[in-house]
Amino acid sequence: MFEKMDKDFVLHSYGRNYVNFKSASGAVIRDDKDNKYIDLSAGIGVVSVGHSHPRVTKAICERAEKIIHVSNLFLIEPQAKLAKKLVELSGYDMRCFFSNSGAEANEGAIKIARKYGEVEDKPKRYKVITLEHSFHGRTISTLKATGQESMHNYFGPFPDGFVYAKDIDDIETLCDDHTVAVMIELIQGEGGVEPLDKDKVKKLAEFLKKKDILLIVDEVQTGIYRTGEFLASNLYDIEPDIVTIAKGLGGGVPIGAVMTTLKDIFKPGDHGSTFGGNYLVCSVALEVLDILEEYKNSGGLDEAMIAFHNSLKNISKQYPQIVEKEVGFGFMRGLRIKDSDTLAKILESAFKERVLVLKAGRNTLRFLPPLTISKEELDEGIKRVENAFSSIS
Ligand SMILES: *Cc1c(COP(=O)(O)O)cnc(C)c1O
Repeated sequence: MFEKMDKDFVLHSYGRNYVNFKSASGAVIRDDKDNKYIDLSAGIGVVSVGHSHPRVTKAICERAEKIIHVSNLFLIEPQAKLAKKLVELSGYDMRCFFSNSGAEANEGAIKIARKYGEVEDKPKRYKVITLEHSFHGRTISTLKATGQESMHNYFGPFPDGFVYAKDIDDIETLCDDHTVAVMIELIQGEGGVEPLDKDKVKKLAEFLKKKDILLIVDEVQTGIYRTGEFLASNLYDIEPDIVTIAKGLGGGVPIGAVMTTLKDIFKPGDHGSTFGGNYLVCSVALEVLDILEEYKNSGGLDEAMIAFHNSLKNISKQYPQIVEKEVGFGFMRGLRIKDSDTLAKILESAFKERVLVLKAGRNTLRFLPPLTISKEELDEGIKRVENAFSSIS
């Protein structure tokens, strides 16, 4: 009944699985027939502290009882606190602007860069170089920034000024007098869990600094401890000019942010968002960050990530005829499957086994478990993934 309602009234922009989830806790989700699923996808990297975390639920309820929204025309105490917290955790000397999604955070990053490129009596610098296979969002300009031509069908004309580099080695030669920024994911998520080489990234960062070209790191997926460090930029040991975050930040409530060292780039009126950074989402994000910071500092997060890595290594050892290699960091990992047909079979079988996993790129089985997943949940999830592998081989 609800499947028909969905199909009749919702635009068909997703290839949906018709399962009706009713409740969830930790990494376990239950459907309307009380079937139990293990979530190794965290709603595409969003429920970073698991489903229905009691502290998150409490933060939502307490805030909702007091005040949810007043608009950015007024001081918003939890927004100020969250900005301070994000700056401290990042280790960078930055200021924040809050959005509702990753794409909007990237829109903010592009606007910051374009404004930076506008200097009196000088030719405007406006070009933003991005990588092939990148993913930066679904709005018209972040879609254009996304270096996957197949996603650009139908939606033109696009804004000018986006240039694609084949790979990181290609970026330097593409920089010209009109280039104002380079935007990269340190581990391409949607593109196939493809980490960039650390030395190459450091060299690129040095080159850009010399040329006064901004380095924008899209950490919408890699940020908020996903790779083990607060930002993947920390892991790569670089100092970006602009960082964007979103997915895991709100633990399920919609919030994104653009952070920049260009602290005075915007004047009142230059940028805005009606919903962005309201009381509700900022209070929840603060709680999520507290939970994750405690977990990281206790050593628990690193331990869980190692256990997870070992489990995946085990699967690739057991199925060398299916798995080409494992890729990724921390809790952002993938198994590169020999071809896309085999991956499709694994995904189908995994869903039958009631374990939620993701596809990335053409042939990568992607895992983004909740960062706080318990050992029991992880073991059960991995067992189901192994069942999916054994059922197709
Ligand atoms: C998911 C994602 C986005 C888009 O975020 P939305 O919240 O869907 O707009 C942008 N960049 C990267 C790297 C992402 O993984």
